[in-house]
Amino acid sequence: MASGGAAGGAGRRALHSARAEDVASASSFRDFEVLHLHLDLRAEFASRTLSGSAVLDLRCLVPAGAAELRLDSHPSLEVTAAALRRGPPGPGEPPGPEEPVGFHTRPFARYGCALCLSLPQPLPAGERFQVLLTYRVGDAGPAVCWLAPEQTAGKEKPFVYTQGQAVLNRSFFPCFDTPAVKCTYSALIQVPDGFTAVMSADTWERRGPHGFFFRMSHPIPSYLVALAIGDLASAEVGPRSRVWAEPCLVEAARQEYDGVIEEFLATGEKLFGPYVWGRYDVLFMPPSFPFGGMENPCLTFVTPCLLAGDRSLADVIIHEISHSWFGNLVTNANWSEFWLNEGFTMYAQRRISTCLLGAAYTCLEAATGRALLRQHMDVTGEEHPLNKLRVKIEPGVDPDDTYNETPYEKGFCFVSYLAHLVGDQDQFDRFLQAYVNEFKFQSILADDLLEFYLEYFPELKQRKVDSIPGFEFDRWLNTPGWPPYLPDLSPGDALMKPAEELAQLWAAPELDMLAIEAVAIGSWKTYQLVYFLDKVLQKSPLPPGNVKKLGEMYPKISGARNAELRLRWGQIVLQNDLQEDFGKVKDFLQSQGKQKYTLPLYRAMMGGSEAARALAKETFAATATQLHSNVVHYVQQLLAPEGS
Ligand SMILES: [Zn+2]
Repeated sequence: MASGGAAGGAGRRALHSARAEDVASASSFRDFEVLHLHLDLRAEFASRTLSGSAVLDLRCLVPAGAAELRLDSHPSLEVTAAALRRGPPGPGEPPGPEEPVGFHTRPFARYGCALCLSLPQPLPAGERFQVLLTYRVGDAGPAVCWLAPEQTAGKEKPFVYTQGQAVLNRSFFPCFDTPAVKCTYSALIQVPDGFTAVMSADTWERRGPHGFFFRMSHPIPSYLVALAIGDLASAEVGPRSRVWAEPCLVEAARQEYDGVIEEFLATGEKLFGPYVWGRYDVLFMPPSFPFGGMENPCLTFVTPCLLAGDRSLADVIIHEISHSWFGNLVTNANWSEFWLNEGFTMYAQRRISTCLLGAAYTCLEAATGRALLRQHMDVTGEEHPLNKLRVKIEPGVDPDDTYNETPYEKGFCFVSYLAHLVGDQDQFDRFLQAYVNEFKFQSILADDLLEFYLEYFPELKQRKVDSIPGFEFDRWLNTPGWPPYLPDLSPGDALMKPAEELAQLWAAPELDMLAIEAVAIGSWKTYQLVYFLDKVLQKSPLPPGNVKKLGEMYPKISGARNAELRLRWGQIVLQNDLQEDFGKVKDFLQSQGKQKYTLPLYRAMMGGSEAARALAKETFAATATQLHSNVVHYVQQLLAPEGS
């Protein structure tokens, strides 16, 4: 274990990340230390606005003083007044007087602008001050998503939620919108009658008939500040966990997760060290939520697709819980290093899963992940620059547009390779604990991780494991392509082999029905079926008639309510042009708006027959209003590629 004990480990080691750039931020985040953010906002559904103020506590870091403060903002966010309050209000002292401050915005990128404040006189280094911004934000920005009643599960009351990752929160509040810096926050949120507000915070209190007060007492990056307001109810599912959902979903959510979340948390703590965030609650979002889950600290936001009725998709919750250590405690310092968040989280998720669900199941799930990486690299070509762990993000490029499977699954392979070099799972688990402890509450680059790894294992450093030909750490980070090392997934063979053999049977020109009927898939769990369907998809199009027959034979698949199965069945239907099941593709896309389900299906439709392309246009016309704006943008690109 590393020495120290100072919260956050600040000052223990000089970090490479301290000088890292963030081309996705227009702010002067290196010139100021941000200590705290306070939001005081009123939500109005009729006008779809959040209005009020943001107060930033700052300290100047520029030795010669600073005359300008630049924050990330967005054209949809209207600042109406800015003021400065100097000096720390001493204990019991009233706050200093407010001085008005001149401000203007400057264009920056498609996804945001700079809010420039001219300080009345240059602020000396070390001086603490507050900036008070009065502002309002409507429904034109990407962070604050306003939903009409019909877009919710209950269909009676509107709903609003925010999504910060990667660079969206600059349209929620003006800030240093970079993962490089962290601060605590508090918020006072006023809501209309009959609504409840929740946030990614460890304190949640009612204030008066319409107010909710929140405090997050640990420093977090701006992208993890999250708010949702709706007709919300909650139910306890563990000693430090409850589920939140619209009243019509809360009982299903309670049944699906009662008792299991605590098991995930306790296993995570055993492996990676204390869970520092206090509560771990889960908010089930309306169907249009574009992600599987978003790891907002203390309160994960998840798709209602997880309410499969059979606990079969709990791996998403294990993934989000794993972010409590990897991503939320130790954070990538810019979005080029996103694999530090996601690769480590995939590794941690599969460690928890191995402990609780066994190696066979976990390897099967990992094989599904590997298939997704294969699909992605087949679509883009292995040498595509996005297929590096360290992605070069050019100025002006939205980090969200670089999103793909590589940071997740190639990242998982690299972390697995680091474990393989160590050769002993217990030792590597202890390293992960030391890594979290070393860098908690900080933001890092891969260089910080790898330097620490080699220090922690001096014998590996001596063996120069960072430069083994073909497996150089530099090659892992900076060369596109298939991972040079793949972890052994053979413990999953007992589950994968039968699925592969069955897929082979279905791909034959003459179906051997006796052999097919001899395979009892009734006992197969979701991920074994998913693996089987992935193999069928790889072999598609199958000989004429086979897929129709497959669907008839397995209503458990062709009529599934489980989203992972519905996605695969839809892809198979499209790849084989089984037009009588096209309605199922449309129904599925109408029932939810998760990006990872929506885009592959639109890609398959646009790559399919004329009827499939017509289905794409018809489905998009019917569902565009209920999708997240990012997803709308990506689907539009698939329907009519730019420059076509
Ligand atoms: Zn994740």
